[in-house]
Amino acid sequence: MSLIVQKYGGTSVGDIERIKRVAMRVVTAKSEGHELVVVVSAMAGETDRLLSLAGQVSTAPDERELDVILATGEQISIGLLSLAIQQYGHKARSFTGGQVRIQTDTAHTKAKILSIEVDRVRLALREGAIAIVAGFQGVTSEEEVTTLGRGGSDLTAVAMAAALKADVCEILTDVDGVYTADPNVVPEARKLARVSYDEMLEMASLGAKVLQSRAVEYAKNYSVPVHVRSSFNASQGTLVVREDAEMEKVAVSGIAYSKNEAKITVLRVADRPGIAAKLFGRVAEANIVVDMIVQNISQDGTTDISFTVPKPDYPKAVQIVSGVAKEIGAPQVVGDDKIAKVSIVGVGMRTHSGVAAKMFEALAREKINIMMISTSEIKVSCVIDAKYAELAVRVLHDVFGLAEGTVVEEPL
Ligand code: ADP
Ligand code: ASP
Ligand code: MG
Repeated sequence: MSLIVQKYGGTSVGDIERIKRVAMRVVTAKSEGHELVVVVSAMAGETDRLLSLAGQVSTAPDERELDVILATGEQISIGLLSLAIQQYGHKARSFTGGQVRIQTDTAHTKAKILSIEVDRVRLALREGAIAIVAGFQGVTSEEEVTTLGRGGSDLTAVAMAAALKADVCEILTDVDGVYTADPNVVPEARKLARVSYDEMLEMASLGAKVLQSRAVEYAKNYSVPVHVRSSFNASQGTLVVREDAEMEKVAVSGIAYSKNEAKITVLRVADRPGIAAKLFGRVAEANIVVDMIVQNISQDGTTDISFTVPKPDYPKAVQIVSGVAKEIGAPQVVGDDKIAKVSIVGVGMRTHSGVAAKMFEALAREKINIMMISTSEIKVSCVIDAKYAELAVRVLHDVFGLAEGTVVEEPL
């Protein structure tokens, strides 16, 4: 008998028929003798609908209130799934994040999990029930409702699996696994049988929303075995596992892209110590994560600093940066939210050379201008005009020979 944590995403519980199908799948696994903890997301589109309601009432919604609203989406799903399972004659009990004490910090809308109390879930399992846990939500030590960032139900599932020492955390979604690129953008994309935590972490944080990046980080830290697979069929999906020697043989194993960032440039900043610290210190105080940073070489004692921030934080970031610019005597702040970040990812990059050059050449051949570049040991990212994002992904997928049956020739 195994203890399995299954997580069903929004599309998989998108309507009543689908919820009934999920209930049947859960019941089947239970009948095979497994213990089941099921984490569910809000029904497809619900979180966006709730966000838009808040936006219609307030131009800059207070994040505490936003969390109170957003957490309702998952609460509906757990109740409905529980009822559907009971209808099939099985015991099921639903739990909100607060009821299983998924305790978080106070960073509303992107809270971090501090601890989980699994007693109530264990009790339900001991009584032969299927435990249904609301994804995406937690509670602070002061009983305030929090949410874990978009895609946060993945994190709930991984954290539950870690706390319960589950045998596997299954992420059941609307694609058959993790592909070499988003299969909805690149039809020839290939399903990966296995992917390392580090590659998955890069892919996820660079825009592959099939897994939330914080969930992957958590899975890596607690060595949670993650299996990403379809909720619509029983085929084997992708295992997210520790890296092995085999994985290094391929230089590039995936392409990711994101249109969820915006670029801010502070022009003609005085080139002296402490300026960057002040600017980015102020942005960090607002809980805004800065990604790429580029500073131009100064000729006349001034310099231009460009950086990217998540799109939802863009208006707030521009406001903060404009304030700091005035204080430090920088004459102008310009922004661009029509950008995309396109990235190539692979642990094999550590041992292969010429990979970045090949990427730049491929983009140049399509006359796609690169605005910013950033690299790590296992990825290269380029910021480009948003309108070329899908084209760039397809071109790079092709150039690095990622499609099914392609023979990859990499410079050694
Ligand atoms: P869920 O609602 O189940 O959480 P998401 O929409 O968050 O599902 O994630 C699944 C989606 O991730 C897919 O429909 C696909 O478009 C997208 N995706 C992006 N990159 C990849 C990738 N490399 N492999 C698989 N899916 C990807
Ligand atoms: N419902 C939340 C969202 O749409 C969490 C999730 O689906 O994982 O982001
Ligand atoms: Mg998701």
